[in-house]
Amino acid sequence: MRSFPLFLKLQDRPVLLAGSGAAAAAKLRLLTAAGARVRVFAEFPSAELRAAIHELRVAWNAAPVAADDLTHVELVIGAYGDEAGGDEAGDRALSDLARKAGKLVNIVDRPDLSDFTMPAIVDRGEIVVAISTDGASPVLAQRVRAAIESVLPPALGRLARFAQRFRSAIQARIEETGARRRFWNQIFAGPIGQAVLAGDERRAARDLIRAINLGGGNRGEPKAETGYVSLVGAGPGDPELLTLRAARALREADVIVYDKLVDPSVLDYARRDARRIYVGKSKGDHTLPQAEINALLIAEAKAGRHVVRLKGGDPFVFGRGGEELDALVAAGVRIDVVPGITAATGCAAYAGFPLTHRDVASSVTFVSGQSKDGIADLDWRALANGRQTIVVYMGLSVAGEIAANLIGAGLSAATPIAIIENGTRWDQRVIKGDLRQIAELVRDHGIAAPALLVIGEVTRAAQAGARAELQAAAE
Ligand code: SAH
Repeated sequence: MRSFPLFLKLQDRPVLLAGSGAAAAAKLRLLTAAGARVRVFAEFPSAELRAAIHELRVAWNAAPVAADDLTHVELVIGAYGDEAGGDEAGDRALSDLARKAGKLVNIVDRPDLSDFTMPAIVDRGEIVVAISTDGASPVLAQRVRAAIESVLPPALGRLARFAQRFRSAIQARIEETGARRRFWNQIFAGPIGQAVLAGDERRAARDLIRAINLGGGNRGEPKAETGYVSLVGAGPGDPELLTLRAARALREADVIVYDKLVDPSVLDYARRDARRIYVGKSKGDHTLPQAEINALLIAEAKAGRHVVRLKGGDPFVFGRGGEELDALVAAGVRIDVVPGITAATGCAAYAGFPLTHRDVASSVTFVSGQSKDGIADLDWRALANGRQTIVVYMGLSVAGEIAANLIGAGLSAATPIAIIENGTRWDQRVIKGDLRQIAELVRDHGIAAPALLVIGEVTRAAQAGARAELQAAAE
């Protein structure tokens, strides 16, 4: 560590900023956001800087900095080098002047002329992360910043404000430091913290007050509930299709309950020491019946663990997420739902065709090809009504019957179709043809689950996606 990190309170304190370009404008915005009283020295301010000066109503001098100007300022920031033409000598002179006056100085992009550098920051309100490479590489600092941005929930500042609000109440209620720390950890890790992050502060406050009032005194240490279940959509396969929230839930989970549709590479996002429980489901091979999965989720949550129930695609699209939700709510277990990209949208994108199209499909219908006992009882007549796209989930083994029903109800046997196997994964296959051939194509190409059937004119569209091109090259 070559520089000492600290956070400076600049509220109402005078800062001198010299320079006319974009960097000066950016620093001006940052400094005024922190409440500093900025005096700008710029002889020929750029349009950007002029706009910022006007908007933020700061003092502006169209003159070079003189020794006198430094008397009452606490920090000096120079950005002459960033102007059109770049005034290197101006920066050097400013640095000398400031140092002679005993003021701390920063020259943008010149660590050699600076006493302090300005870090890349991740701003979450009360919570600010500052990243420094000690001037070695601002670009590298930006990359680190982007990595941290993706990990910290946007509402983290809200969580800090929430904690602030209850801080003294909890301090009064739980005297022992260790107990207090344990309590706060339970709050942040459990459903109360989750509710704050999800914007439900009212419920969080209610639960927190209840937790403080329970226990304590003779009844022992106050305890907040920590167990809850996140019903998380893992997307159709490619781990890059996880949402930021899904990735965070995976990182934070104690237990991950997943099934067959979840691509193994998605689990790389989980904490290494998280317990993983496979409840793989595939047709005719129910490793764990639904009732037992429900019981497992309830038991783990009641034992105080954060359980992620990870499901392929979106948990609420043909995923039996609704049944799990009902069971958990009935058992009084806290639950939150993280949506995922469903197979239909993921597969269409990676196969390079849209699901709706102004000219040929004004609606799209997701159907399940199967019900509990064989082919689903669908409204074939409504589906056969052209100008729409039909996406069939779980339709592989009944593809021929589906085609026959649609054709019987009046849909043209020549309607184009696509069969997508292992959609969005590295081994995705897209087979195209027309409706009357669908069963034959499934058989001849040895299509295996998971696969999606897409029926409609949209499947004719040019394959534009990178995956689609790869596919064409492989054929
Ligand atoms: N909840 C899931 C769907 C579960 S039903 C979602 O929202 O995607 C299981 C069916 O989804 C499979 O039979 C198959 O039709 C489809 N499916 C899921 N992942 C798929 C993938 N990667 N490629 C093709 N089809 C997929």
